[in-house]
Parts: sequence; structure tokens; C-alpha cells
Amino acid sequence: MNSSENRVTDETMYDELDAELTSPFSQYDPFTPADDGDLALPTQSQTHVPADTNAELFARAGQVIPGGVDSPVRAYGSVGGTPPFIQSAGGSIVRDVEGKRYVDLVGSWGPALLGHAHPEVVRAVQEAAEHGLSFGAPTKAEVELAQAVIDRVSPVQKIRFVSTGTEATMTAIRLARGTTGRDLLVKFAGCYHGHSDSLLAQAGSGVATQGIPGSAGVPAATSADTIVMPYGDLPALEELFNARGDKIAAIITEAAPANMGVITPPAGFNAALVDLAHRHGALVIIDEVLTGFRVSRAGYWGLEQDTDPYQPDLMTFGKVIGGGLPLAAVGGRAEVMDLLAPLGPVYQAGTLSGNPLATAAGLATLNLANDLVYGRLDSLSQVLVDGLTQTCEAQGMPFALNRAGNLFSVFFGAEPGAQGVANYEQAKTQSQDAYRAFFHSMLEAGVYLPPSPFEAWFVSSAHTDEDVATVLDALPAAVEAGLAAL
Ligand SMILES: *Cc1c(COP(=O)(O)O)cnc(C)c1O
Repeated sequence: MNSSENRVTDETMYDELDAELTSPFSQYDPFTPADDGDLALPTQSQTHVPADTNAELFARAGQVIPGGVDSPVRAYGSVGGTPPFIQSAGGSIVRDVEGKRYVDLVGSWGPALLGHAHPEVVRAVQEAAEHGLSFGAPTKAEVELAQAVIDRVSPVQKIRFVSTGTEATMTAIRLARGTTGRDLLVKFAGCYHGHSDSLLAQAGSGVATQGIPGSAGVPAATSADTIVMPYGDLPALEELFNARGDKIAAIITEAAPANMGVITPPAGFNAALVDLAHRHGALVIIDEVLTGFRVSRAGYWGLEQDTDPYQPDLMTFGKVIGGGLPLAAVGGRAEVMDLLAPLGPVYQAGTLSGNPLATAAGLATLNLANDLVYGRLDSLSQVLVDGLTQTCEAQGMPFALNRAGNLFSVFFGAEPGAQGVANYEQAKTQSQDAYRAFFHSMLEAGVYLPPSPFEAWFVSSAHTDEDVATVLDALPAAVEAGLAAL
């Protein structure tokens, strides 16, 4: 693998920044994976690939794995059909076992900020692997990654690494309960915080797409301690806190909801949450598992600091922070974080926490995520949003389009309120039939979108002008198909 010529060096990146700012994507030179996107694959696995089809593999998978998948939304339940079984990915392209290539707008649901198998990230993982896969002991790389996060996101004074976003939020709420000595947790309908018991009530993401209200197997007592509120409704929250504020341990919210489709937080909403909670001795957990290091260097929190500053008590990270490997984190005020074992009474642990490969991938990713990368994501997002808007308008498709930084999603045929699609109730009025038809038309044209209308679209700095053209060219027919199914 000789990709150093393809790579954009730091100097050229900054030289190009000016051009980048004036033209949406003319000057950017993303790294391009060698030949056909098989950059990360060891050659031997290419020679041993059996001639499977997606349908055959999905049938076999269903015999041995429930639903054939390890995470529900992958089964294409809400769009129907057979999911492509991915064989390899490089840059902006994923390729399935049948050899079909797609422009990827899922990005592993967020981690692929720099595209897939970025050469420097792969090299960092390979180097780490040569020194051992896991020690269950402290490492220097963990200290460096902790410092990298703290340097970017100032409410994080201390941080602990875990393996999944689910663990991060689970730990955050235990910590909030341990800190306050209170049990109640406030979450918002349609926000997704992973699949721990307390957080599955009216969750978005896969829970939304499966059309189930929550999950079987969650004890009634656990659900009873979770209060679900409509997103964005401050008066309702004031009322709740006036009545039960002294029993509430924390409010947890996505920094910008992106698991019921994208919902743009009302200006000042997160700041108002912090203010309200603190007046009642409760904590605020800002979940940046999806938005963290994706919408800016300092996540969605970073985007709001100039206009509506706030200091959350705890923050959670995942997805980008592991660069595609299993790594997530909970961080926050030192005095709260120090209540974690071994210093404090709140227990939390993990055999693979801070795994050296994952830590190396995360550190390499954060180090590469400079201003030019975020500028590129913003301009890509803008071009796609404009294209989608113009196509829907030209074809008379009723739609709402929401953005939060470089994240966006479209709601076909939704009945928005006065502020657009602003909460879960309104998000659920969209036409799943229209999305299904739209989705399959795009897939047919080689564009791999999230297989659910309740998910954000993810761009990466590896997307090329050609990729953008592929997506834009596919839109008219797909919107027409959606309109016919509305
Ligand atoms: C993905 C996600 C989680 C859960 O992370 P996992 O790594 O899938 O457990 C939690 N919160 C938000 C906002 C997410 O988007």
C-alpha cells in the first residue's frame, strides 16, 4: 500500500483552505484509495472470497444470527429487500459481495469521518497491532487520547474510555444518580442513547424503525424511573421540574437529535436545559456519541459556544472517537468523574476498555480531523442539501429537510409544526413508503443511504466531486419514485 502521494499533506491542506472557502468543492483533494476500494483488505482474503450473493448470505445469516444481523436496522426492515453484504470499503465507496460499488452516505453510522480505511488510520492500527492486541492495563495512548479530547471539548476535564456508546451513556446515568443520590432520569422522545434498560423508552434509531414503543425485557421499575418528555418543549420541562425537580438526577439529551431523523435544536435549548437542571440540583448529560468530532472539532457543543454557551456536567462520545473501532467515552467535570471507581463509589469497568488498537485508530482520526476536513464536510453537506431541496421543489414532493451542522435528513410527506419537523411526533408523520421507494431507487443507482428515514445522512472528507455528482444525478428518479409511493 503506497498511498503517501495520494494523501493531502498538512501544508497543502492549509494552502487549499482559501479556495475551499470560495468554491464548494473544487480544490479539495481527498485521499483516494488504491484501485477499486480494496485498500484495507489483505490480499489473501481477496483470493478466497467465495461467489456468494447478498440473498444467499442473508438467508444463511438468518439461520445462525437472529434476523441475520447484529444490529436491527441493518436488516432493512423499514425499507424492505435484501441488505448488501459488505466485502470491503475504501474512501467514500463500499463494495458488496456481488462486486457492486456504492457511494456510501452511512459511513458506518458516523465513524468514517475521513472515509473508510484512511491510510494513516490503518497504519496506526497496524503499528499498534504489532505491539499486542490487548493488555487490560493502562497505556500511554489512552493518556494521549484523553488529552486530545480535553483539549477540544473544555467541559471535559476527565474522561473514561469504554467500548460502546451504550456503555458510555449507561455509565453517565449511573454517575449522575451516584452524584445526586436521586433516581429519576429525564430523556426526550425520539432521542437514542444506546440500548441500556433505562434508555430504551421511546428511543429513536432502530427502536423507531422497528415500530416498537420500547423493548420487552425492561423491568417496569426501571422504566418508571425514566421520564420521557417531548423534545424542545421548555415549558413542559419547567412544569416537570417544579413538581419533581428534587428527585431528578439528570436530563440526558442528544446534543442535536439525529436518531429520529435530524432535529435542529431550538437556539439556546441546550443552554436552557443546563440552567433548569442546575437550578434544581440535577445534572445534564450531553450525548455527543453521534455528533462529537463530526460536526466540528468540539462537536455540536462547539458549534453552540459562541451563541449560547453552556457547561454540561457530563458528555458522552462514540462513533468518530474510535475511528471505526469499538471505542467510546464518558467525560465531564473532574469532581463528578472522580466519583468513578477506583476513586469513588460508582462502579464501572471493562476488560477491553481503552483497547490499544481502538485508541490508536481514534487518536489518528482526531489528529487528521483538521479545519479543512470540517470545511469539506460542511460544503459537501450544503451541496447535497441544495440538490435535495431543488429536486423536491421541482417535482412537487412535500418534504422537510433538517440540518444540524453537517448532518441532515429529509422527511418526505411529513406534517411539520410551525417550527418545521421539531420532535418525534412530527418526525413520525413522514411517509415511510415514500422513503422506501426513494431509498431503493438511490441504491439501484449506486448510492448507499441509511436504510431508514429516521437516520442522518453522513458525509466524509473522502467524498469526491464525482461521488457528489453520482448522488445528485440519482435524485430526480428517486424523488419521482418516492412521490409515486407517497
Ligand atoms: C449510536 C448512539 C449511541 C449508542 O452507541 P453504540 O456504540 O451503538 O452503543 C448512543 N447515543 C447516540 C446519540 C448515538 O447516536
